[in-house]
Amino acid sequence: MGCTAEDVVAAVRAAAAVIADHRDELVRLDQAIGDADHGENMKRGFTAVVSRLDAEPPDTPAKVLKLVATTLISTVGGAAGPLYGTAFLRASAAVGDATELDQAVVARALRAALDGVIARGKAAVGDKTMVDALTPAVAAAECAEGTVAATLSAAADAAEEGASSTVPMVARKGRASYLGERSANHMDPGSRSTALLLRAFADAAAKS
Ligand code: ADP
Ligand code: MG
Repeated sequence: MGCTAEDVVAAVRAAAAVIADHRDELVRLDQAIGDADHGENMKRGFTAVVSRLDAEPPDTPAKVLKLVATTLISTVGGAAGPLYGTAFLRASAAVGDATELDQAVVARALRAALDGVIARGKAAVGDKTMVDALTPAVAAAECAEGTVAATLSAAADAAEEGASSTVPMVARKGRASYLGERSANHMDPGSRSTALLLRAFADAAAKS
């Protein structure tokens, strides 16, 4: 069975709850190598997304993803707001007019999201950014076969490993790059939030 607009709304609500639960963790990660705002930025953005979903839930998967994109762009701020906004906007375009998402569409949407993040932020794997979580996640989703839940679960596993891989890296993009070598030995906050979002989507898909 595919993933309807209602299922996508449920997944986004689950993601908002996970981001709120992990707000302090994301703040601490960004405190170490940035300006300590990532947890609050993401929580504010997803709280606004939930308010808009409450007011008027969109009736197609693409419209849900577009609502997430435009809300994050206008409320998250920092580097992550435009990057996540672009990711969800590209994912929305990749989904097109599909009324239900299957494994292939989900993999395409994740690939489009990654392409958008790279187009906007110009980061490569190894630069210690969310790209280090999203790149292996997309590869895992494209190799996965079966349900949307299994695809997203494989993506979340890979994103978690990707986030862990940022710990020894020296940042070459974003605010953390100002620290040079001192950015090593900390996990990149954006890679962690990417892994959290994908895990929340996977868990929600497993329930739908
Ligand atoms: P800011 O750095 O403006 O305070 P946030 O703290 O909300 O913004 O987000 C920081 C995260 O954004 C970083 O941990 C990193 O994952 C991501 N990021 C920053 N610059 C880039 C970039 N050029 N490409 C991809 N991701 C980036
Ligand atoms: Mg920050």
